[in-house]
Amino acid sequence: MSPPEVPSFRNHILGRDREPRSGLYLDVVDPSRGTVLSRFPRSDARDVDEAVAAARGAFPAWASTPAPARGEVLFRAAELLKQRKDAIARVLSREMGKRLEEARGDVQEALDTAWYAGSEGRRLFGRTAPSELREKVGWTVRRPLGVVGVLTAWNFPVAVPSWKILPALVCGNTVVWKPAEEAPESGALFAQCLWDAGLPPGVLNVVHGYGEECGAALVAHPDVQALTFTGSTAVGRLLAESAGRALKRVSLELGGKNPVIAMPDADPELCVDGVLWGAFGTAGQRCTATSRLILVGDVGDRILPALVARARALRLGDPEDPTVEVGPLVSARQRERVHGYVQTGLREGAELLCGGVLPVTEPGFFYPPTVLDRVARGSTLAMEEVFGPVLAVLRVRDLDEAIAVANEVPYGLSSSIFTRDVNAAFRAVERIEAGITYVNAPTIGAEAHFPFGGVKCTGNGHREGGWAPYEFFTELKTVYVDYSGTLQRAQIDNRGDAER
Ligand code: NAD
Repeated sequence: MSPPEVPSFRNHILGRDREPRSGLYLDVVDPSRGTVLSRFPRSDARDVDEAVAAARGAFPAWASTPAPARGEVLFRAAELLKQRKDAIARVLSREMGKRLEEARGDVQEALDTAWYAGSEGRRLFGRTAPSELREKVGWTVRRPLGVVGVLTAWNFPVAVPSWKILPALVCGNTVVWKPAEEAPESGALFAQCLWDAGLPPGVLNVVHGYGEECGAALVAHPDVQALTFTGSTAVGRLLAESAGRALKRVSLELGGKNPVIAMPDADPELCVDGVLWGAFGTAGQRCTATSRLILVGDVGDRILPALVARARALRLGDPEDPTVEVGPLVSARQRERVHGYVQTGLREGAELLCGGVLPVTEPGFFYPPTVLDRVARGSTLAMEEVFGPVLAVLRVRDLDEAIAVANEVPYGLSSSIFTRDVNAAFRAVERIEAGITYVNAPTIGAEAHFPFGGVKCTGNGHREGGWAPYEFFTELKTVYVDYSGTLQRAQIDNRGDAER
C-alpha cells in the first residue's frame, strides 16, 4: 500500500485531468531508495477510447491551423521547458535514477527538438518537378495522418517522447501518448509545457498505465492511424504484427548491442574515456550503450588495466549527488535481469575483471560497473542486450574479424571505432551494419538534429531526429494543374508526330 502523502496524478484528455475509469492506480518507485514516489492511473481501453475520441475530434481544426502557427506553439513550449528544465530534470532523475547532469541533458534534448520542430512549421517542404505536358504543373504537399499513438520507454522519459510528439504535432496530427509506467511524472511535466503554451484541448492527450492493458488498447484502436514506439524488440514485434494486420503506419525504435572497436593504434586514454562513458553512463541503460568492446591485436594491454581500474572506482549512489558517477538501475526486476546475464556470462566461460556482485547495503537497485573479458563469440553475453552497466570484452586478430564480430548480432543501432588510421575508420564506417557509427567517440551522444535509428532488429527502417520524422508523420499528396484549357493525356499526347 502507498503511504497517503504520495502525490497522485491523472490522465489528461481533452484539456482536462481525468481519473482512470477503473479507479485503479499504479505505484512509481524511487529506484535509489526503493520507496513509492507517486501514483499514476492504471488506465484501460475505456480511457484510451476517450483519449482517441478527443484526438479525433481535435484533428480537423489542428490540421487546418497553418503549420507556422503550429510551430509557434512549440516555440512557446520550448520557452517553458527552458524555464522548467531544472525542475523537470530533478523529477526525472528521482523517478528513473539518471544522474542529475544527464537528466538535464534529457530535457535539453527535448528543448533542442522543440526548436527544430517549431521551425519545421515554416518548411514541411513538398517538391515540384516539370510536367511532361505544356501548360501543366505538378507538385507535392504534405498532409497530416490523423491520430498518432505514441508509446515510449522509461530510459529517456522526456527526450524520446519529444522526438515523436513534437514532429507529429507540427505536421498537424493529434496525439495520444502512453508514457512508460516506470517514469511517468517527468513526461507529464513535459506535456504540461505544451498545454501551457496554448496547445488546443484534445491535440495531445496522455493516458497512463501498463503496456499490456493501456498500451495494447492504443495499439489496437481502429481510429489510430499511425503508431510510433520506442522499447524492446519483443514488444516492437507485437506492435508490428498488430499494425500490419490493420495496415497502420508504424515506426519502431528497439534494442541495441552496440560495439566499440579498439584498433591497435587507438589513443588509449581517449578510448578508455569513451568506453567508460558509453558503457556506464546512465548505468548502461541506453539503447546506444556500449555493450561490447572488441579489442584488436594487443591493444587490450594498453586499455584494459586502466579501464578496469577506473570502472572499479566509479562512485555509485544517489543520482542527485554531484559526486556520484553511476545511479541505480530502474527497478529490482531490471537489476535481477542484469545480474542474471552476468552469471550466465560466467557460466559460459567469461572472465570477471570487475563488478558482478549485488551490493547488499544500499536500499536502492544499484549494480556495480562490470567488465567481463574473453567473452566467447556467439555466447549469450556477446549476443543479447543487457541494458545495464555490463561490458563484454571480445578479442580479435584484425579489423576484418572485428567488423565480422560487430555485425554478428541481431541488432544494429550504434557503433564506434577508435583508431588514428583514416583507412581503418572509413572501412568501419562503410562496413559496420548500424544506423550510427562514431569515429573516436563513444556509442552514445546523439544530437537532436541528426537522424537516429538502427538497422536489423533495432527497428523497421524509420528514423527519428533531424529532418527524418517529417516523412513518417505526413502523407504526400500530389497535385496537378492543367491550365491549357484542353484535354492533355500523359504518356500519349506528348509523343510527337514521329510516333503517331
Ligand atoms: P518495453 O518494450 O517493455 O516497454 C516500452 C513501452 O511499451 C512502455 O510504455 C510499455 O508500457 C509499453 N508496452 C509494453 N508491452 C506492451 C504491449 N503489449 N502493448 C503495447 N505497449 C506495451 O521496453 P522497456 O523495457 O521499458 O525499455 C527498454 C527497451 O527500450 C530496451 O530494449 C532499449 O534498447 C529500448 N530503447 C530503444 C531506444 C531506441 O531509440 N532504439 C531508445 C530507448 C530505449
